[in-house]
Amino acid sequence: MSGYAGTPRSGAPGQVKEVTSLANPVIKDIKSLALKKFRDQQNAFLAEGLKLVIDALELGWTIKTLVFAKTARGNPLVEKVAARSVAAGALVLEVSEKVLTSVTRKDNPQTVLGVFEQKLMPLRDVSLSGSDVWVALDRIRDPGNLGTVIRTADAVGAKGVLLVGDCVDPFALETVRATMGSIFAVPLVKASPDAFLSWRKAFKGLVAGTHLKGAVDYRSVDFADKPVVLLMGNESQGLPEPLAERCDVLLRIPQAGRADSLNLAVATGIMLYEVRRSALSLDGVPAA
Ligand code: SAM
Repeated sequence: MSGYAGTPRSGAPGQVKEVTSLANPVIKDIKSLALKKFRDQQNAFLAEGLKLVIDALELGWTIKTLVFAKTARGNPLVEKVAARSVAAGALVLEVSEKVLTSVTRKDNPQTVLGVFEQKLMPLRDVSLSGSDVWVALDRIRDPGNLGTVIRTADAVGAKGVLLVGDCVDPFALETVRATMGSIFAVPLVKASPDAFLSWRKAFKGLVAGTHLKGAVDYRSVDFADKPVVLLMGNESQGLPEPLAERCDVLLRIPQAGRADSLNLAVATGIMLYEVRRSALSLDGVPAA
């Protein structure tokens, strides 16, 4: 990220910079995060909203730049996040509405944005025990689907999401938006199909694939008390043969009506709630 940030704000000299110009190089860098090429170059991504930024900091994510609207000045939570970001060595910018709108390309943008360092878990660190569940996604392409799956994985207490093959970028703004903050709570791993298959060789739990030609009703399997990897296929092509044949079981969700298949994120949600059935209850105590 470029060195020049803006004018030090009076009252907090050298800590919070005021930016009103769309030509400010830091603002240009943040806007460039809309493209994967620049997200990767800067090893960064953008998250919108005060709650998300607070959650990310709580969960130990590294903030590079905090941006907040002039109108948010004086909000005690914003001031606290700003102080915390300064202490963490981040750049803190107070910007005009015009600048904020240009960064988020939204008419009513959130008043707080954070630029965070990307973080992925290495595949070799993925180790399941007890009744741990991971979701593995084969070549997922749709950012909204990926964000929804990450959010659902978080909701059911899955331990992580494994992205197999050429997947959509989890740090794309649309994905991050769809996760509603769960991007910060769910470990993500990227792996080639070969790397996933060799990891799978050493995995002792159940690899449950989902397939439109699956012979087994997803409700007939007992998922309790064993580690499970739930493998979901690509939106248009489904699971390819080399992955499907390495699953312990191929499950199908019965359908009536004319739809050929379920939306990937919907199918993942149905499956995750079945896999986690015995671990979830309304009072937090596992169902009997
Ligand atoms: N045309 C694709 C095919 O032939 O597999 C449809 C893929 S579907 C939109 C995306 C993924 O969602 C599938 O690969 C599977 O993992 C899951 N899926 C969707 N509907 C399903 C069902 N009824 N049973 C099992 N899995 C399903």
